[in-house]
Amino acid sequence: MSKMDSTLSYITDQLKALTSIASPTGYTRAATDYLMETLRDMGFGPERSNKGNVLVELGGEGEPLVLASHVDTLGAMVRSIKDNGRLRPTTLGGHQWSTADGENCTVYTRDGKVFTGVVLNTEPSAHVADEPVKTIEKNMEILLDENVDSKDDVLELGIQTGDIIAMDPRTTVTESGYIKSRFLDDKLSASILLGLARAVAAGEVTLSRKVSLLFTVYEEVGHGGAFVPADTREMISVDMGCVGDDLAAPSAWCRFAPRIRVAPTTTTW
Ligand SMILES: [Zn+2]
Repeated sequence: MSKMDSTLSYITDQLKALTSIASPTGYTRAATDYLMETLRDMGFGPERSNKGNVLVELGGEGEPLVLASHVDTLGAMVRSIKDNGRLRPTTLGGHQWSTADGENCTVYTRDGKVFTGVVLNTEPSAHVADEPVKTIEKNMEILLDENVDSKDDVLELGIQTGDIIAMDPRTTVTESGYIKSRFLDDKLSASILLGLARAVAAGEVTLSRKVSLLFTVYEEVGHGGAFVPADTREMISVDMGCVGDDLAAPSAWCRFAPRIRVAPTTTTW
């Protein structure tokens, strides 16, 4: 296997590892634990700020450059518990509920309990409903994989307003080399930066300037970086390119990883 193929294989493995760790905005500790451990294992000295961002210096001298990606993702939160034992969600970060209708999900409670469920609109059956409802937030609910029929049943499980809801990532790497997954934004970028760190640690890349990596945890709600080292000369945010009629990002290629192809529909969440 060539060095490039081995790096790409490593990046793909890191993507699978990172997407398997639920990390909606505000619930990123486990994801950053993983980053800290992975970077330490490479021999680096990563630091985590009080805010939760992970910063690591890879080496090099002069013209300090920071490469940033975010490991928080879109997700949801329990807005309220309905009398029929279903959860009404609200979004964490901006997204379209239509992309989550029918998706399996996991609820993480304050005291560390984990419950699975499914996101459905309030009229999911065409056999029953006269008319479909719009897949907008007020019409969405979480059905838990638990025998709950009332609000009290749900409260007894330990689920409360404000608990975190994460959608299944559905990460798939096809034989043809396509990656299909939620949360490629921005865990694919974070994986690529880990691939760079590994190449530096292995001596496969020589840095011509000082390079640090910054993994942020509040990008989806708009205050991701909020801090960079005082000597930073340039900072590049490595993130997905939005696809749209009048936008420049190519529909089927991920610009920051020319050999990793990404289907356009998988760049949302
Ligand atoms: Zn992003």
